[in-house]
Amino acid sequence: MTSSSSDGGHGPAAHTRPVTAPAPARGGLPPLLGPDDPPPVTVLHPDARGALLLVCDHASRAIPQSLGNLGLPEEQLGRHIAYDIGAAALTRRLAERFSATAVLSGYSRLVIDPNRDLEDPTAIPVISDGVVIPGNRALDAAAQAQRVETLFRPYQEAVAREVARVRAGGQVPILLSVHSFTPEMRGVPRPWHIGVLWDRDPRLPIPLLNALRADGRWRVGDNEPYSGRDTTGGTVETHATPAGYPNALLEVRQDLIDDDAGVALWAQVLGDALEHLLTAPDLATIHHYPRV
Ligand SMILES: [Zn+2]
Repeated sequence: MTSSSSDGGHGPAAHTRPVTAPAPARGGLPPLLGPDDPPPVTVLHPDARGALLLVCDHASRAIPQSLGNLGLPEEQLGRHIAYDIGAAALTRRLAERFSATAVLSGYSRLVIDPNRDLEDPTAIPVISDGVVIPGNRALDAAAQAQRVETLFRPYQEAVAREVARVRAGGQVPILLSVHSFTPEMRGVPRPWHIGVLWDRDPRLPIPLLNALRADGRWRVGDNEPYSGRDTTGGTVETHATPAGYPNALLEVRQDLIDDDAGVALWAQVLGDALEHLLTAPDLATIHHYPRV
């Protein structure tokens, strides 16, 4: 049997059941979110003055109470398939250091992945890293559309709003997407401490790669453990690439940031690496790097 699957990260996945265009709700669905559920998006420092804009697509492991944990046991909800362990805390620390706006998604990517094209079958994964998600099987169009409208769109619209706000203030937004990756995937260890993912625009990723490597302590992946090349529909590809804004996607190995000390260390490492390069003049310009 084939199914939609995701490795819980950014890699390719089998495509069998795309999330189709939202159909009108048929009126019979109860609300997805109740009064005790968290908001679909959190924006930190919404009045920040700088050009740096942090986004954290996989910040949260929360699942709406109405979905009953999607039929998964609690131990699965603490794993990388549910969220990017440590990424929210790292994003918050970086936002503090740079007094930067940060947009954090409020729900688990197991409910709907905000870093996916809606046509991507792993946007609502039926399998992730070998784990079947019972609550996502046999999901009808109305239920899919409800997740899109209630969770996916508010997050994406918040990112769009913050990007537009920076631009309206006369600056070119610098979009930095913060993620974490599991140290081992399907039995294969991943040796990198950190990876920088990028497509064609080298302005932020190349100096960042150089700065992290110059530190001397880390094994730094260039488009590892995933590639940012030729991807479509993710948050960076939607909000930065088409507009010609500088951008990069960070992947920190999750075991390095699964406690406060690790988060503090990596916020410092990344903060120090970013500190000087963020003021580079070429980051303040709009530049399109077409695919060849
Ligand atoms: Zn992620």
